[in-house]
Amino acid sequence: MNDSQLDTDSPVEHFKALILYKLRYAVGKDPANAYEHDWFEALALATRDQLIDHWEESSTQVDRQAAKRVYYLSLEFLIGRLLIDNLSNLGLLDIARQAMSELGVELERLREIEPDAALGNGGLGRLAACFMESMATLRLAAHGYGIRYEHGLFRQAIIDGWQAEQTETWLDFGNPWEFERPEVAYRVGFGGGVTNHELDDGSSRQVWQPLETVRAIAYDTPVVGWRGAAVNTLRLWRARAEENLQLDRFNAGDHFGAVAGEVRAESISQVLYPADDTEAGQELRLRQEYFLVSASLQDLLDRHMRLHGDLQSLPDKVAIQLNDTHPAIAVVEMMRLLVDEHRLPWEQAWSLTVASTAYTNHTLLPEALESWPVALMERLLPRHLQIIYLLNAEHIDALRAKDIHDFQLLRSVSLIEEDHGRRVRMGNLAFLGAHSINGVSALHTRLMRDTVFRDLHRLYPNRVNNKTNGVTFRRWLFQVNPGLTHLLVDTLGEAVLEEPETALAQLEPYAERKAFREEYALCRQRNKEALAERVRLLLGINLDTSAIFDVHVKRIHEYKRQLLNLLHTVALYQAIRNDPTTEWVPRVKIFAGKAAASYWQAKLIIKLANDISRTINGDPTVHGLLKLVFIPNYNVSLAETIIPAADLSEQISTAGMEASGTSNMKFALNGALTIGTLDGANVEMAEQVGEQNMFIFGMTAQQVEARRRLALDMSDVVADSERLQAALGAIRDGVFSPDDPSRYVDLVDGLLYHDRFMVCADFEAYWTAQRQVDKRWLKPNDWWRSAVFNTARMGWFSSDRTISEYARDIWQVPLPPRTPPQQ
Ligand SMILES: *Cc1c(COP(=O)(O)O)cnc(C)c1O
Repeated sequence: MNDSQLDTDSPVEHFKALILYKLRYAVGKDPANAYEHDWFEALALATRDQLIDHWEESSTQVDRQAAKRVYYLSLEFLIGRLLIDNLSNLGLLDIARQAMSELGVELERLREIEPDAALGNGGLGRLAACFMESMATLRLAAHGYGIRYEHGLFRQAIIDGWQAEQTETWLDFGNPWEFERPEVAYRVGFGGGVTNHELDDGSSRQVWQPLETVRAIAYDTPVVGWRGAAVNTLRLWRARAEENLQLDRFNAGDHFGAVAGEVRAESISQVLYPADDTEAGQELRLRQEYFLVSASLQDLLDRHMRLHGDLQSLPDKVAIQLNDTHPAIAVVEMMRLLVDEHRLPWEQAWSLTVASTAYTNHTLLPEALESWPVALMERLLPRHLQIIYLLNAEHIDALRAKDIHDFQLLRSVSLIEEDHGRRVRMGNLAFLGAHSINGVSALHTRLMRDTVFRDLHRLYPNRVNNKTNGVTFRRWLFQVNPGLTHLLVDTLGEAVLEEPETALAQLEPYAERKAFREEYALCRQRNKEALAERVRLLLGINLDTSAIFDVHVKRIHEYKRQLLNLLHTVALYQAIRNDPTTEWVPRVKIFAGKAAASYWQAKLIIKLANDISRTINGDPTVHGLLKLVFIPNYNVSLAETIIPAADLSEQISTAGMEASGTSNMKFALNGALTIGTLDGANVEMAEQVGEQNMFIFGMTAQQVEARRRLALDMSDVVADSERLQAALGAIRDGVFSPDDPSRYVDLVDGLLYHDRFMVCADFEAYWTAQRQVDKRWLKPNDWWRSAVFNTARMGWFSSDRTISEYARDIWQVPLPPRTPPQQ
């Protein structure tokens, strides 16, 4: 469309014309018979057009400057919705709202129509999404690489109180943000064998002949930074068969067999986290990891050769960041590509690989540290297993050459685990193949040095470093909390939008002003009403918005201790029933979160939350004083409604077990007070915000460790607490599960006699901290002073700060100067 067709007098008119054009020529509808989804698509496409010019500009600029590129490899990108994000970062939000309203459609309704891209589980995937946004904002040349899961993570329904996993269908109506790039395709091999070819010069070459090859097709989604600073690319791979239809079989009448290859290949990009309690599920997961890695490395090496023409410059032009060990096979694939395909000498290939690769560790839980059976690796990736053996032999020889012979030490740093059937240790592999290994909070990094990587760290003392996580304030403050954002801009000026990291600190003096606190509290009140309305529509439950909204939303996991919160709820319920005339502070307990499909205990915790909810919500004695809701299908969009409405943020993991947490930061930024343990980034939050503005309780990581060594039997602490006994007793006896009175017997006995997560041990401290919460709530001046302090002191937790540190310390790429806003 050329400009003469448009009325360009005002930006709103211009945008309106663009939307109508898209509606007619891309969606094929006219306004009279357009459904809301048609309008969504037209608006999204019109918005996407605005991105494209910036996109071209960004990539040619990077090419011209031959800048170093960052490649962020992650099996997960939990991006959520993009409409408001893109409009907001392009500065088009108000224009779009006005344009749509003149077209008779409410922007808010279109926002709700967009499905969530649920391409992640939780914190790790959301971190990748925040990082992509920050890298675009900071104008770093960065590419995200991931998998375009057709069905993402399952959708959670709650049926009769139990979690049911349903198929996510986010692509059913297409995805207006992505560009399919059929011309960007790579072959990824699996299985087969390796043959040794003698060359004329006497050397030899290993040739892998895969039994099966799958094509990886690129789908590109533009990621725009704040004020359109730069547009980077999130490239997600889709698996296709080499041959979609075997025509000979089809013609022979074998109609199903003719598409079997297609089905097998495509299964790689069907779902995130195939249930791994079967062998087939485990194999599929390894296929996914290798599929992502191989396609991405081929792609980035292609680009590198096109732009620079030689491999020596790889570490100067390429920084590969591995998000956890999921893509750790990259270390081996890079070696294979450099040695087998590009014919580089082994030693040289290894130094280029290590110098270009960095690895982020996200967990210390032994059961979550990835390892693959040697037999599986041999069957699926025979050449890679050879390379791993060679690397391991060199690694161990080098240590022996340094006179290190301690058998235990050599065992612990080996790439192969020999104890429980032979397995390849992906953590050790990533450590060895990377020049930087970072943890995600100060405490986590310290524990990493002391535990999982203790020996490797002693051998390579300069590799481990810390990069405390952050979140993007564009999404987690500006977009989710426009009311508070307005108030902040009115108070502190536009600097809040441009440099929130520093500008927010100017808010501190306002914590002392009553008038300001009242306005601040009013923003919260509106958000609580919006959430209450959503809960009423979803669950038919009315929430009292003057009660404390006490929020615990995150993946359901024993270490995150939803059980501790549920025990508090039961104890509070009993206390109110025993003494209904006391002045109780009204509470609404809000839970949400998905449990892994094969994690029985977590699913039982969801059932318990729903059982307790039914009982106490139906009990007139506690009416108006205590309620519990479990909101189904926690995802980014739900988080965006819940977090700005929270008064109290539950961050109560067993100390030493949460690597960082990021929802803790989102809540505090929006002014919720944290009740939490000294775990993950809570520790640094307490340093920034001040313990007096939080409710810190419970054992430290060190005390947890000591107690673990002593005993996991908690009979002693339970004997000391009548309150805890009564709460456990009620759950155990079936008070909340009269339909199946023994449902929770094992669960409670687990807490009593084998409490890995210290639920009982921390109960009394938690109860006491909760009563401090009540006390402060009754003094609104104190409560809201603390709340304002939380917002004011969260600047450091911006993912812009985190990314600046990665750029400086790990990737060694200079940050371009920030451009002044274009408006
Ligand atoms: C931020 C976020 C998380 C991470 O939450 P934690 O409480 O830090 O584990 C998980 N899921 C979603 C949807 C999020 O937005």
